[in-house]
Amino acid sequence: MSIKKQARTTIVGYENLNNQKNLGRLNEKGTDYGQWFYQMECLSCGFKYKANGSDIFQRKCPNCQGGRP
Ligand SMILES: [Zn+2]
Repeated sequence: MSIKKQARTTIVGYENLNNQKNLGRLNEKGTDYGQWFYQMECLSCGFKYKANGSDIFQRKCPNCQGGRP
């Protein structure tokens, strides 16, 4: 995995292709090695949840499974 590509997804304000926005890193270790949890927000329904830094880019909203039409 490209570190460069991964790093971009952990920047505050990053939005992935499923309309999920990164609101910033939480003070909590993620479940993947060397990762942290990040606060995510669904821009479709406003639902907030946390995600591992390693899979922010592919996250979908657990509430509405939101994606761009
Ligand atoms: Zn949603």
